[in-house]
Amino acid sequence: MSKVCIGIDLGGTFIKFALLDENMSVTGALQLPTPAEAGPDGVIESMISGATELLDHEGISAGDVTGVGIGSPGPLDLAAGVVIGMPNIPGFVNIPLRDRVGDGLGIRTVLENDANVAALGEYLCGSGKDTDVMVMLTLGTGIGGGIVIAGDLIRGAHGIGAELGHMIVEPDGEQCPCGLRGCLERYASASAVARYARKLIEQEGRKSILTEVLGRKGGIDAADVNEARHAGDDLAAKVWDRAISYLAVGCVNITRLLDPDLIVLGGGMAKAGDDLTEPLRRHFSRLHWTIDTQKTALTLASLGNDAGVIGAAGAAWKQFG
Ligand SMILES: [Zn+2]
Repeated sequence: MSKVCIGIDLGGTFIKFALLDENMSVTGALQLPTPAEAGPDGVIESMISGATELLDHEGISAGDVTGVGIGSPGPLDLAAGVVIGMPNIPGFVNIPLRDRVGDGLGIRTVLENDANVAALGEYLCGSGKDTDVMVMLTLGTGIGGGIVIAGDLIRGAHGIGAELGHMIVEPDGEQCPCGLRGCLERYASASAVARYARKLIEQEGRKSILTEVLGRKGGIDAADVNEARHAGDDLAAKVWDRAISYLAVGCVNITRLLDPDLIVLGGGMAKAGDDLTEPLRRHFSRLHWTIDTQKTALTLASLGNDAGVIGAAGAAWKQFG
């Protein structure tokens, strides 16, 4: 029996499990709903029972598992393996998640943040394969960042590096929950797109076909804005372009810092496909310096929602393999 690592991706809605062999191939997978209402104890119980069920189903004993990697929302204390807090699961405060799951399974375990494992997943098995320096931006409610250089995640001196969604792109700009103003995620996340469209419609009384969508659904999301843009709506086009131009500012700043081979775009907004990458590449070229040709590529993530669980197992291979 060849060795495997287990990846566990803890999300607010689902817990995903995957087995990854030494060749970075997924050999088994499972998904369970996250029992958020059961609090930390119930969630940890599900993480242990799900991993056990997957091993049983694949006929693998704990002795054939090299390690477990957990990807979790944070903030986290990576060195201690502790979840400091988790917005989506009440009561998840100062929980030693790494040791509770590791002890429950009897397998050594590593904890890593969810944006980092998504980046590692894309690097090992997705769009970032065959790159050396890769950056991933996950465009969702916020913007998650992950940096992989020569196979290693860059965490910084204090474990809080690569928080790319909180780079400042607009001094004295919009207030961010992190305490700063003008962070990238306040302008270029999927939520930011929807929020800015609503602001123009509701506070400034601007005309848009999104007004009807808003009335019918009680809300709008980034996909609605993109759809309205395709239908010729000027407001939607303006909102979409503004977000992507800020995203390009972020990508140019990342490029100045790291000169990556590739910046990979994932998360809900990446479902827009070419509608995201085409204008982004255009703004990126416009903002790129002229002292050298543009070498960094921008592309979509290819693993979708599985990047995190694959990268979590990959983190275990990095740590224990
Ligand atoms: Zn911020």
